[in-house]
Amino acid sequence: MSKVDVILTGGAVATMNADFDLFDPGAVAIRAGNIEAVGPAERIAAAYSADEVVDCAGCTIVPGLINTHTHAPMTLLRGLADDLRLDVWLMGYMMPVEHEFVRPDFCWLGTQLACAEMIHSGTTCFADMYYYEEAVADATAQAGLRAVCAETVLQFPSPDALSYDEGLEHARDFILRWKGHPLIMPAVGPHAPYTTTADLLRACGELAREFDVPLHIHIAETAQEAENHRAEHGMPIVPWVKKLGVFEAKVTAAHCVHIDEGEMRTLLHHGVGVAHNPTSNLKLASGFAPVVRMLELGLDVGIGTDGPASNNDLDMWEELRLAALLAKCVTSDPTALPARQALAMATIGGARALHIADAVGSLEAGKRADVAVVDMRSPHNTPRFTRDPDALYAQLVYATKGSDVRDVMCQGQWLMRERRLLTLDEQSLMAEAAAIARKIDTFLIQREESVLSKLLVIGQVAQKKTFEIQVKVRLADGASIEGLLDSSEIVILKPSRRRQYDTYFLFDDPWHNRLRYREDELLDQNGEVQDVVCRLTMTSEGKDREYAKSVLLSRSRFDAPATRSLRFYREYFKPEAEVEVHKERRRYRVRYGGTDFAINLDRLIKPDLPGLFLEIKSRTWSKQDAERKAEMIGELLELFQVQEQELVKPEYVKLAIKA
Ligand SMILES: [Zn+2]
Repeated sequence: MSKVDVILTGGAVATMNADFDLFDPGAVAIRAGNIEAVGPAERIAAAYSADEVVDCAGCTIVPGLINTHTHAPMTLLRGLADDLRLDVWLMGYMMPVEHEFVRPDFCWLGTQLACAEMIHSGTTCFADMYYYEEAVADATAQAGLRAVCAETVLQFPSPDALSYDEGLEHARDFILRWKGHPLIMPAVGPHAPYTTTADLLRACGELAREFDVPLHIHIAETAQEAENHRAEHGMPIVPWVKKLGVFEAKVTAAHCVHIDEGEMRTLLHHGVGVAHNPTSNLKLASGFAPVVRMLELGLDVGIGTDGPASNNDLDMWEELRLAALLAKCVTSDPTALPARQALAMATIGGARALHIADAVGSLEAGKRADVAVVDMRSPHNTPRFTRDPDALYAQLVYATKGSDVRDVMCQGQWLMRERRLLTLDEQSLMAEAAAIARKIDTFLIQREESVLSKLLVIGQVAQKKTFEIQVKVRLADGASIEGLLDSSEIVILKPSRRRQYDTYFLFDDPWHNRLRYREDELLDQNGEVQDVVCRLTMTSEGKDREYAKSVLLSRSRFDAPATRSLRFYREYFKPEAEVEVHKERRRYRVRYGGTDFAINLDRLIKPDLPGLFLEIKSRTWSKQDAERKAEMIGELLELFQVQEQELVKPEYVKLAIKA
């Protein structure tokens, strides 16, 4: 009789090996972190003895579940912002908060909390992609879990790298330090094709191959992403990524929601594993990945929860059940993705998708002892039928809950016994997470109080000159600005023709902030659009001071390029009201008396106001200078022979509100 460390015996054993062998009652013998033998309980008892024999009667022994895609530290952002579109969620909330809070200690704590949750629900291995992956790896190893840890690389500055070269350097250092660790497999994580460049993706592929480590990437998560990619590169995402040599590495591609048959075949040909994230795809309304077709073709498809901020938990039982249900509904075929296949995706399929199936994913002699014991003795899992042996899989997939997991072992080390965690202090982890949540809440409350701070978070904001002197005059139709400007005292510097579509966001806040989103179309001689520039400008109500012939406005004014859609800004800033102003503008920069002024001749289309408006404007940082310019504007009006009763005091936005 051979001596082993632990024998789990008396329960059903779902091996998830190639033949889907089931032993009931079965047993698993474990020695030095590895599985020594699996088989019928009697046979194991006859061949092996151990000091620790665990009675698993009434339970099912399964391979530890494998979560093929997550961002573990985001447990600390769970519930921060929900029911939002992906871009608003990501660019409006996640990234700004990450920028402010994500540090190594944040990642360490968030990962430990994630590990506590994963162990509770029987997950023993996960694939992570986040910042400060060093801290993620360290926290995971201390918890005793297994992980493929990908250091994120982005084209723009991230919480842990100012540039992508720096990100690549971090990834290389990280791989060098962790390669060969018994639980942690370091990897490189170019975030997605739309957040990286061709050069960066190529370099990531080379790095992964140089060290023979996995590469983890998001691919084709949303229809928008696939559409934009096609428009920009003239081909779908998968062949483009392939062209860069990325698939020569051991790749796991998360999502793959919007890929076609040809793309699936390319992934198959290159042995790319797919991480299917049904909850995240549903919650962010990204769509349904064609997993049934992928499995038919023979692709390695695993299941992932995605980050806990878009799920919002790390319970793989929920996830594998949803994967099975969704596949049926999407294909209108209740026989699609049967229970056994769903459980396989969460175990051996996940191991294959992560390129670690030689070590984990099934209960087989020689593999690492990553095991979960599921207690089936609960009302929601009763009774049990044995006529069809596969009924056990249906029970596990359709009735079992994460909280049914009783014991968990990773590489032969107990992480949980009788539902009590052995490597983590979950009470203190929860208390620390609550403290961080309070800080993030405070940060967001302060930000939400002011449109400006919300604007600042988006970036590239510049403060503009405080004082604006302006005058507006309504002219009869047909008036010619050229005629007005035909004076030896005025030099025209730069004429241009534009069509401007302004949307004003109005806020009911103490500062009376106003945000203008302007699409400024520059027209050529023939009125064709030459260029479009979009900008955001925020002003707060300032003190108006009226002069005889002009108005002096003093107010804070901030300006930024508008790189996202009007829809994004609407959902992000949530204005109280909106007003639109559309106009055709002839703009002249002129010099009069050694001072520059802007002269606009505007025809308002929305609101549709008759006649033309003449505007003369100038801006300055100095109040004295502003007063001097106010006088000069008066002189210009005299030169133009404008009568005082023709002056229009309100700004266009106010005219639009009145209209
Ligand atoms: Zn993700």
